Amino acid sequence: MMNRRLTLLFVFIFLASALFAQKTIQKPIKSLNEAELPQGTRTIAIVDVLLIDGNGGQAISNGSVLVKGNKIIAAGSSKSIQIPQGTEIIQGKGMSLLPGLIDSHFHIDGAEDLPSTFLQNGITSIRDPGLWIEMYDQVRKSSKHKPRLFLSGPHLDGSPPAYPNDAYVVRDEAEAIRQVNEVVDQGSTVIKIYFRTPPGLIKAITDAAHKRGIPVTGHLEITEAKHAIEAGLDGIEHITSFGLSLTPKRKAEKYRQSMLADNNYRKQGRYEAWAALNLNSAAADSLARYLVKKGTFVSPTLAIFEYQPGKGAIDSIQLKGFDQMMKLTSKLQKAGVNIVVGSHGMVPYAEKGWAYQREMELFVESGMSNSAVIHAATMVNARFFRIEKELGSIEKGKLADLILVRGNPLEDIKAMRNIEKVMINGVFVK
Ligand SMILES: [Zn+2]
Repeated sequence: MMNRRLTLLFVFIFLASALFAQKTIQKPIKSLNEAELPQGTRTIAIVDVLLIDGNGGQAISNGSVLVKGNKIIAAGSSKSIQIPQGTEIIQGKGMSLLPGLIDSHFHIDGAEDLPSTFLQNGITSIRDPGLWIEMYDQVRKSSKHKPRLFLSGPHLDGSPPAYPNDAYVVRDEAEAIRQVNEVVDQGSTVIKIYFRTPPGLIKAITDAAHKRGIPVTGHLEITEAKHAIEAGLDGIEHITSFGLSLTPKRKAEKYRQSMLADNNYRKQGRYEAWAALNLNSAAADSLARYLVKKGTFVSPTLAIFEYQPGKGAIDSIQLKGFDQMMKLTSKLQKAGVNIVVGSHGMVPYAEKGWAYQREMELFVESGMSNSAVIHAATMVNARFFRIEKELGSIEKGKLADLILVRGNPLEDIKAMRNIEKVMINGVFVK
């Protein structure tokens, strides 16, 4: 009898706690400016396109998509789509339709028109991994259309911080946890740690962020990637964050100490370190396997490191170092690592507004297939942002963020620069 009562009690406690857990389930992640976005009200069909849905599979050569309000209500081969009377029809012959592009690493760098320019160029969601949220107030107030804004608040860093204006210095666990909660209350949808963040704090930070349902990403440089991922890190910013993992211990420690003494040491120091790496090593293979096992997202930001020899003397160290960064990117992607596209906002070898497309081109030059690059730009990034239920692919029920490009980017990635139309939330903004 007693046993039965006890069992019932346990069942009750179990059910009650399950119910409580349900109640504390996080709200889905939304961009900060969700309520400020235009809202589609019409029914629009985009017909006869090459449909590249973002999921990484086969494209549909004659596809159509039907949008009603701010949602996709049908997508597939043109034959299978019923277009209701009165629908506005966009003829897309000779063009490709893709999901709006998602940028995991955008910096505004004082150019307040840059988010709008990015939107005009097909990037419908941007994540700024390290800036005070109020720095976007002006952008949000401007009358121009903007992409969905996913912000982090200032990145967390140790003392002295590498970029004081964009950093919040964390000295201990309590401070780190408080800061995480404060920026999430303000609307942050990701936390970014910078390379001077004391490694012992990473677990406290990731635990606090995960409790609030948001991911943590990091620029590591002088912290071993595996240690940070073991502590709960979800994403790695910059391919260079793996340099330490692939450098022999004694040399790696020299790099770390040089960086701790001078933040700017990396500017040339990282090319020297990368030029000397062996990417066909057991260490590189084991790193790839580890990242696959952990499901870690990697935003290589190759375009910010790109080196192109110009007139005059060639910097062979930079040339070799950058080539190695491309090689590791492609190696990780081929091993099954979640590679995503992050533009860095403005980069040396792209005109203002085209850094994202440059990053896609560099992925292709690295050896990734065009299809994999488009997948990395859309659905993989949506998963990194934890917004894949609403965005990242062209599927029935998802939000209507769509781009129409002239030509076929599966054959030539440069077609991603031929942006004909951009739709956000069911409204054409270009
Ligand atoms: Zn950055």
